[in-house]
Amino acid sequence: MCKAHDYLDTIKSKGSHLNAFLFTPEGADVEMSTTGPLKDLVIAVKDNISVKDWPLTAGSKILEGYIAPYDATVIKKLREANATLIGKTNLDEFAMGSSTENSAYGVTRNPWGQETVPGGSSGGSAAAVAADLCDVSLGSDTGGSIRQPTAFCGVTGLKPTYGVVSRYGLVALASSLDVIGPFARTAEQVERVFSVIAGKDEHDQSTLDYQYETKDVDIASLKIGLPKELWDLEIDPEVKQTNQDFVEWLRHRGATISDVSLPSLPLALPAYYIILPAEASANLARFDGIRFRASVRTSQDLADTYRDTRYLFGPEVKRRILLGTFALSVGHYDAYYEQAEKVRHQIINEHKEVFANVDLLVSATTPTLPFKIGERAQDPIAMYQSDLLTVGANLAGIPALSLPVGFSASKLPIGAQLMADRFNENVILSVAKQYQADTDWHLRKPEEDNG
Ligand code: GLN
Repeated sequence: MCKAHDYLDTIKSKGSHLNAFLFTPEGADVEMSTTGPLKDLVIAVKDNISVKDWPLTAGSKILEGYIAPYDATVIKKLREANATLIGKTNLDEFAMGSSTENSAYGVTRNPWGQETVPGGSSGGSAAAVAADLCDVSLGSDTGGSIRQPTAFCGVTGLKPTYGVVSRYGLVALASSLDVIGPFARTAEQVERVFSVIAGKDEHDQSTLDYQYETKDVDIASLKIGLPKELWDLEIDPEVKQTNQDFVEWLRHRGATISDVSLPSLPLALPAYYIILPAEASANLARFDGIRFRASVRTSQDLADTYRDTRYLFGPEVKRRILLGTFALSVGHYDAYYEQAEKVRHQIINEHKEVFANVDLLVSATTPTLPFKIGERAQDPIAMYQSDLLTVGANLAGIPALSLPVGFSASKLPIGAQLMADRFNENVILSVAKQYQADTDWHLRKPEEDNG
């Protein structure tokens, strides 16, 4: 039996109560290769990324039963590197959410505390790595959906620079923000997978000429900025203290630490919640009951078919389609969408300015510890606040990584976020690898009977 078969067994037995996976293939399909750069890695895939001949639901009833007809570019690249694919992971419907509670297929549980959410929207991918159900997983990050579940599940995850990983075969949420990236226990494994999936793709015109090159950075030569607007937020005291300890580690290794200001960052969340729904409302128009799987027909009338099919969307998806359509409508476009775009440009410029003076920005990844299932589900605004620390990087298009830097007294993981200027993934990853060589937070594993 190879490692992939062991993982399959564990997913079906000990792992099943977590509901991290929506689909796993037959055992015969997970034979591991003996050659190739990723031959030793078993990889799970968020269920909004196309894997040929496997179901793709995007966590939605509207795609139930849909089988993907082609491989996403990232999947093609993983196959070329001989990685083994182990299944599709649970997510908030169409990647909208911060807890995986919006999945039409039930919540995923956090392996560190089973009454607790794993974060979202890529909650299944983060939980799968944390619970040792695979080596690596892929997620997508539009406003924090890789980093926030990474922090909540005590693993390492990278949101790459916008445009360095192809979105071909990713179900679009907000096309100008979406990016695919890896989760793993270690920054070293994140780096190995990232270096394979990054690069130009003729199927995605927004991809850039880019080849990842690893780099050894001397931390003593680094200038690190602490964005005042992120550190001044109301943050859980344990999360804050643990992040301060992480900054102390960087200082101890010789980095020069200073406070920096990105004055428009407090506007990032409101701007994001205009831009994202606007783009999502356009992208989700394709799910109309004609082109993809589900079609509900109560009459011969086309408008009825649209209406009755789109009724299958869950409440958060409907909310965002309404918000987005409103923000783009004549008479409101200038007041909302245009203003939000101005904020985005200001945020891009402020990041450019700050990266002229510092190499890295550091903040907590999430304002709170992992919260309880049900605690925020009825309160969209509280749920949106989960993204306070992460959306800035999406609007700026810069790379950002979350890694575990400690635990709360209640034994829940705490993450720190490292951000760099565009294309400087190698600086972030080098620092993360050095931290993980010196500490063992990333190696801790949840007890099986947690909760
Ligand atoms: N939590 C954010 C949202 O609900 C992030 C989503 C994402 O990155 N896909 O929009």
